[in-house]
This record gives sequence, structure tokens and C-alpha cells, in this order.
Amino acid sequence: ESFHDVDMGEIIMGNISLSRYTRPTPVQKYAIPIIKTKRDLMACAQTGSGKTAAFLLPVLSQIYTEGPGEALQAMKNSAQVENGKYGRRKQYPISLVLAPTRELALQIYEEARKVAYRSHVRPCVVYGGADIGQQIRDLERGCHLLVATPGRLVDMMERGKIGLDYCNYLVLDEADRMLDMGFEPQIRRIVEQDTMPPKGLRQTMMFSATFPKEIQILARDFLEEYIFLAV
Ligand code: AMP
Repeated sequence: ESFHDVDMGEIIMGNISLSRYTRPTPVQKYAIPIIKTKRDLMACAQTGSGKTAAFLLPVLSQIYTEGPGEALQAMKNSAQVENGKYGRRKQYPISLVLAPTRELALQIYEEARKVAYRSHVRPCVVYGGADIGQQIRDLERGCHLLVATPGRLVDMMERGKIGLDYCNYLVLDEADRMLDMGFEPQIRRIVEQDTMPPKGLRQTMMFSATFPKEIQILARDFLEEYIFLAV
């Protein structure tokens, strides 16, 4: 049992070492190979299980190693200046991670910064209850991987700051908590909008501590022939 069982590329392997992760946790051991084969995933895992790295490592590894594919083209597009309604750059992240709270969003962002170290992938984080102007200025510096709470992301989309047209990797983290907090309308607004690549074309991963009826429905609606993993 080692991170070397799956080839994630030099940059990722180096960053795993820098994080001092010696062995994959159970959720990492099972989820990383599944995500690397591009399957959709519904994973039941608790906080503290290492679930953040379980999706960040393979998603970023795919973004790095895909070569001159669609994701890299999307990055080039996202680097182009757009003269939208507000006259400033609109960002098109390749990967979106939705999280219920500011605290969790920040934790995921910190982990993403470690995993993306020494790469061309720039992570950003946006969440409610904080100055939106500062978050917009940070987005405008470039955003390939966005960590967001649902309400603030809807706000950013309405302001024309974020487009999800090239969002090839979608993660819903702590999906049960997001529903408990009443975010289902915002989540559906984000995932079911016309510009988001439809399921089957994007890769979608849902993480949840529990698997009640409401989460099963969300999984049915958002995931394509998914693998169910419980650790
Ligand atoms: P999470 O469940 O994603 O919130 O992760 C819980 C904690 O475990 C975080 O502080 C991670 O940095 C740490 N962690 C994640 N994966 C590993 C690993 N393979 N080895 C050691 N620590 C880890």
C-alpha cells in the first residue's frame, strides 16, 4: 500500500512527499484508482478520513498529465481576457469543489495549494460572509481549480466572474451537510445550468458521511453510472 501504486506524475508524487504523507488512507487507497479511471464516484467517508486528498490528488494528476487535451485548452481559454458585462476577466475553472462552510472550503483550498505546488494550476477559494471584492480580485489573477460555498458561487456567476463551461471535474464535498444547510436550490442551479458540461462529459465525485434518500436522489441526478464506495 503506497501512493506509488497509481502513477500520478512527478509533481504530484513530489508534493505528496512534501506533505509527509507516507501511506494512503483507506478512502485514498480505493478512491484514487477509481477517479483515475475517469469513473463517477459516490463515496461515503467521514471528516478526518483523508477524503480531501482522495479527490484532489487524482483530479490534479489528471489535469497535469492529460497533455494537450481539452482541459489544457480550457486553461488557455481561461487565460484570455474577456470583455464581459463588467469589463473584467471572467474565469473558467477546470475543476470545481463545492463545500458547505467557509471553514471546510478553506481547508480544501489549503490542501489544494499543497497539491498544486510547482504546477501551472492555480487554486482559488470563495465563500460567503467575507468581502466579495477581494475574492473577485483574487479570481482575476487566474483560477483553474475553484473551491466554493454554493451561495457565494451563485453570486459570482451572476456577476459574470465565473463560467463553468470548461468544468470537467466536479466535486461535491460533505453533500449531506450541504443539503442540511438548505443549499440544494443553489447546488442544482450550479450543476444543472446550461453551460455546465452535462454528466457523462464531466467527471463528478460526491462525498458524504451519510447516504439518505436525498443524497441518493442527488447522486442519481448528478452522476453517470457511478461507483459506490463506503469506507
Ligand atoms: P480530511 O479527512 O481530508 O479532512 O483529512 C484529515 C487530515 O489528514 C488532514 O490534516 C490531512 O492533511 C491529513 N492526511 C490526509 N491524507 C493523509 C495521509 N495519506 N497520511 C497522513 N495524513 C494525511
